[in-house]
Amino acid sequence: MTWDEMDDVIFDGTKNEVNNLKCPDCNTKVYIQYTAKWGALTYGCKKCGRVVKLCKAPEPNYISE
Ligand SMILES: [Zn+2]
Repeated sequence: MTWDEMDDVIFDGTKNEVNNLKCPDCNTKVYIQYTAKWGALTYGCKKCGRVVKLCKAPEPNYISE
Protein backbone atom coordinates (compact mmCIF):
# COMPACT_ATOMS: atom_id res chain seq x y z
CA MET A 1 0.00 0.00 0.00
CA THR A 2 1.20 3.52 -0.80
CA TRP A 3 0.51 6.65 1.25
CA ASP A 4 -1.98 7.74 -1.41
CA GLU A 5 -3.91 4.50 -1.09
CA MET A 6 -3.84 4.85 2.66
CA ASP A 7 -5.74 8.09 2.33
CA ASP A 8 -8.66 6.15 0.87
CA VAL A 9 -8.62 3.61 3.68
CA ILE A 10 -8.52 6.31 6.34
CA PHE A 11 -11.63 7.97 4.95
CA ASP A 12 -13.60 4.96 3.76
CA GLY A 13 -12.23 1.99 5.65
CA THR A 14 -13.65 0.29 8.71
CA LYS A 15 -12.23 0.88 12.17
CA ASN A 16 -10.54 -2.47 11.96
CA GLU A 17 -8.86 -1.62 8.64
CA VAL A 18 -7.74 1.75 9.92
CA ASN A 19 -6.31 0.25 13.11
CA ASN A 20 -4.28 -2.16 11.04
CA LEU A 21 -2.65 0.41 8.78
CA LYS A 22 1.11 0.11 8.61
CA CYS A 23 3.72 2.44 7.18
CA PRO A 24 4.61 1.28 3.64
CA ASP A 25 8.24 2.18 4.27
CA CYS A 26 9.01 0.61 7.66
CA ASN A 27 5.90 -1.38 8.64
CA THR A 28 5.34 0.60 11.83
CA LYS A 29 1.75 1.16 12.91
CA VAL A 30 0.41 4.42 11.47
CA TYR A 31 -0.96 6.98 13.91
CA ILE A 32 -4.12 8.88 13.08
CA GLN A 33 -5.71 11.80 14.87
CA TYR A 34 -8.95 13.47 13.90
CA THR A 35 -10.37 16.58 15.55
CA ALA A 36 -13.96 16.97 14.46
CA LYS A 37 -14.19 20.61 15.51
CA TRP A 38 -11.64 21.71 12.90
CA GLY A 39 -11.95 18.80 10.53
CA ALA A 40 -8.28 18.38 11.24
CA LEU A 41 -6.84 15.05 10.24
CA THR A 42 -3.25 14.17 10.99
CA TYR A 43 -1.65 10.87 10.24
CA GLY A 44 1.74 9.48 9.55
CA CYS A 45 4.65 7.39 10.74
CA LYS A 46 6.60 8.47 13.79
CA LYS A 47 9.55 6.33 12.86
CA CYS A 48 9.97 7.77 9.35
CA GLY A 49 8.84 11.24 10.37
CA ARG A 50 6.16 11.20 7.70
CA VAL A 51 3.28 13.51 8.59
CA VAL A 52 0.18 14.27 6.54
CA LYS A 53 -2.09 17.07 7.75
CA LEU A 54 -5.46 17.88 6.29
CA CYS A 55 -7.75 20.75 7.24
CA LYS A 56 -11.51 20.83 6.89
CA ALA A 57 -11.48 17.15 6.07
CA PRO A 58 -14.79 15.30 6.08
CA GLU A 59 -15.27 13.00 9.06
CA PRO A 60 -13.65 9.65 8.34
CA ASN A 61 -16.01 6.71 8.20
CA TYR A 62 -14.38 4.84 11.11
CA ILE A 63 -15.11 7.68 13.59
CA SER A 64 -18.85 7.11 13.54
CA GLU A 65 -18.61 3.36 13.20
ZN1 LIG B 1 7.61 4.41 8.59
